[in-house]
Amino acid sequence: MPNVTCYLVANWKMNGTADFASQWLADLGRSRNAERQVIACAPATILGNPAVIAQAKAAGVALGGQDCHAKTDGAYTGWISAPMLAGLGVCAVIVGHSERREHAGESDADVAAKAQAAHKAGLTAIVCVGESLAQRQAGQAETLVESQVRASLPDSATTSNTLLAYEPIWAIGTGQVAEPGDVAAMHRHLAAVCSDMGLPGLPLLYGGSVKPNNARELLALEYVNGALVGGASLDAASFAAIIDAAPGGKV
Ligand code: PEP
Repeated sequence: MPNVTCYLVANWKMNGTADFASQWLADLGRSRNAERQVIACAPATILGNPAVIAQAKAAGVALGGQDCHAKTDGAYTGWISAPMLAGLGVCAVIVGHSERREHAGESDADVAAKAQAAHKAGLTAIVCVGESLAQRQAGQAETLVESQVRASLPDSATTSNTLLAYEPIWAIGTGQVAEPGDVAAMHRHLAAVCSDMGLPGLPLLYGGSVKPNNARELLALEYVNGALVGGASLDAASFAAIIDAAPGGKV
């Protein structure tokens, strides 16, 4: 993804069918410029639909998964592996989303193994980290998130196969967006941590109740290279407004 200055990632979570995806792509339109990489992380049931794949390609929207198994194959009923996603032409996969860390008990080590599997399959890993409200209120946000980053990024991570998404858990799906000053401070810290890990310039995304009315301010912050958007991404018009709020103005 050369010369990309902003990544706009939609996370549809467990929502939508192929019909929804088709309508969403039609509504989003094709007005994006090459400096903005738009990725729609859809349920696996949508990713394999040939009509959706063709429509996404025509719209300049890359498709991504929402999780993958760390193994390539085997007796893991219900799971999907990174090579399976790659075989569909998918370009990226989210790993370590807080909903999976919470509901599926995924540890940093699990997330690192999944990210490594994604890299091995040629996928971009969108690695999620973020603190709880209690951790932030206890003044532990930066320490906690730094430890997640160091343990969740595998050795295979490079600045071209990984996006790091900072998503404070208390801001996800709550409408409670983090203060821009706090986002800026965390991203500055994460940029330094990534440099220390030999990954200077690793793209850093913010996620947590990003909406059309706050996207411009958040995306303009230093060290914020894009957004991971849940709820607002389900509405194509809202997501288009977020894309258009990226630095550079409306295209
Ligand atoms: C997410 O699911 O990663 C997310 C950020 O959700 P929301 O935008 O709804 O807070």
